[in-house]
Amino acid sequence: MVVQVGNIQIGGPQFTVIAGPCSIESENQFMTTALAVKTSGAAMLRGGIWKMRTSAKAFQGLGIEAFDIIKKVKAATGLGLVSEVTDVRQIEEIAHIVDGYQIGARNMHNYSLLKELGRQPKPVLLKRGFSAFIDEWIKAADYVLAGGNENVILCERGIRTFETATRNTLDLNAVVYAKKHTQLPVIVDPSHAVGIAELIPQLCYASAAAGADGLIIEAHPNPAQALSDGPQALTLETFDKTMKQLERVLAAFDRRLQKA
Ligand code: PEP
Ligand code: MN
Repeated sequence: MVVQVGNIQIGGPQFTVIAGPCSIESENQFMTTALAVKTSGAAMLRGGIWKMRTSAKAFQGLGIEAFDIIKKVKAATGLGLVSEVTDVRQIEEIAHIVDGYQIGARNMHNYSLLKELGRQPKPVLLKRGFSAFIDEWIKAADYVLAGGNENVILCERGIRTFETATRNTLDLNAVVYAKKHTQLPVIVDPSHAVGIAELIPQLCYASAAAGADGLIIEAHPNPAQALSDGPQALTLETFDKTMKQLERVLAAFDRRLQKA
């Protein structure tokens, strides 16, 4: 099944890369990132407005202050945006500036939020909970589908295992399983899966080879200064190199990158 997100199609023959910072931090940071990832071949932007941080003391996102920044960046790049909603009230608040709603790993089991998104016209990118069985993830998608919103994209973002050397463990089994057992597009978030920037390019190539429909990748102009998830943010230069190699991997499977 193909899901339309703004101007792009996810789940068709082409491979879609969504990229941007973990959090929108400032106009300069988001604009610089967006223009660069577009030049490198990303078809859609990501960027957090409200963040689900483990610590209440950590940066929680700009909230409504991000809205004007988003309008300027979308106008300058012509790219669509997916951003996370953490509360049903935010669905309406950001309807005018997003092309798709992201449900974060921590909210995969928030069925009232999923039911509300089932009543919305815009697509939903549903992250897998880090301790969710594949079956629970697929059933969570059903909450959105059952409400009448058929535009759901599954996103594997790594699960908790006994391993501590990496942030999570990318479960490529889940990608091939979900592709086989559902009609929904499946994308991979290698950034949260591994949590270490230098390991991300290889996971991008592996995801493409495994048959994912796309990727959602965190990038930042200055990862050391990032207000969230700096250790896993690709520099804009590394993002560009990764996209070039990704195109070669895709070509081996007779696929190519979707251009915005
Ligand atoms: C994110 O995309 O920045 C994020 C918080 O992801 P997850 O919900 O997968 O942890
Ligand atoms: Mn993040």
